[in-house]
Amino acid sequence: MEKLLEVRHLKKYFPVKKGFIKRTVGSVKATDDVTFDIYKGETFGLVGESGCGKTTVGKLILQLHKADSGEILFEGTDLTKLSKSELQKYRKDIQIIFQDPYGSLNAKMKVGTILAEGIKKHKLLPPDQIQPRVLELLKLVGLHDSDVNKYPHEFSGGQRQRIVVARALSFNPKLIVCDEPVSALDVSVQAQVLNLLEDLQKELGISYLFIAHGMAVVRHISHRVGVMYLGKMVEIAETDELFEHCGHPYTQALLSSVPVANPFHKKNQIMLEGEVPNPINPPTGCRFHPRCRFACDKCKQEEPQLRKIAQGHVVACHYPEKVYGN
Ligand code: SF4
Repeated sequence: MEKLLEVRHLKKYFPVKKGFIKRTVGSVKATDDVTFDIYKGETFGLVGESGCGKTTVGKLILQLHKADSGEILFEGTDLTKLSKSELQKYRKDIQIIFQDPYGSLNAKMKVGTILAEGIKKHKLLPPDQIQPRVLELLKLVGLHDSDVNKYPHEFSGGQRQRIVVARALSFNPKLIVCDEPVSALDVSVQAQVLNLLEDLQKELGISYLFIAHGMAVVRHISHRVGVMYLGKMVEIAETDELFEHCGHPYTQALLSSVPVANPFHKKNQIMLEGEVPNPINPPTGCRFHPRCRFACDKCKQEEPQLRKIAQGHVVACHYPEKVYGN
């Protein structure tokens, strides 16, 4: 498969300011040396607890934040090196679907105007072809022609998220960053939106960066999954491999908390002890060591790097064999 996006050693620290003159007293290490690829037509799931840096990764890719260092190669072009005007060309290629379908849409605009806005701004179509395209977009996401003149408040949460998806599609994007796109929706509606995203991918060949904290949702939709902990990527593998043979103790704990729809199935849930450490002052060595049941002196001193443990499977742990295959 061909690579669409290559993220290399991505780093973003947010300064922490204090006092009257707003002196910088530290920095939140939101993403620290994050590397991964997304292939054409692939869904790459990105998981981890709140505050692990996964949303920052999405915003860096969209250039909503400027990276401190690292590369974001989109079809071979490093987006971090482009000027504002050079970036314009790529803006339409990478779109985002936010978590909250209520806050994502302008309540004062009709759906037809919302969907036509980006097409007009980027001059994607001649004026006489905009309305037919808007109707086509509504059909693509399972809405009706008559919805074009309605306002966002006339729709349910699931329908609003469909409008958000249609707006993203109006740019003909190659990559969509889906930032927890179903977590604000009822469980019954979540599957419909996930199935819609899958169908659109099959039809249009779009790639997704699917950011979520729900492992079950990520398993449903992703081809490969990356696991982040405290600003670091700790494991990447194909979805089935990750769920059946994970190699990092943190991934193992995340997976052990996924509920199983079988009352007779006894599961050994691994309870992580302690709080997530402060990202302003992360632990030395392996950042997971204060909460890891396998931690030893080496873990406290030496930072583990991502290394291959199976085909397409990399783990940042000194002792992946303690988890892998167990
Ligand atoms: Fe645990 Fe050590 Fe592996 Fe970190 S490197 S996950 S502390 S075993």
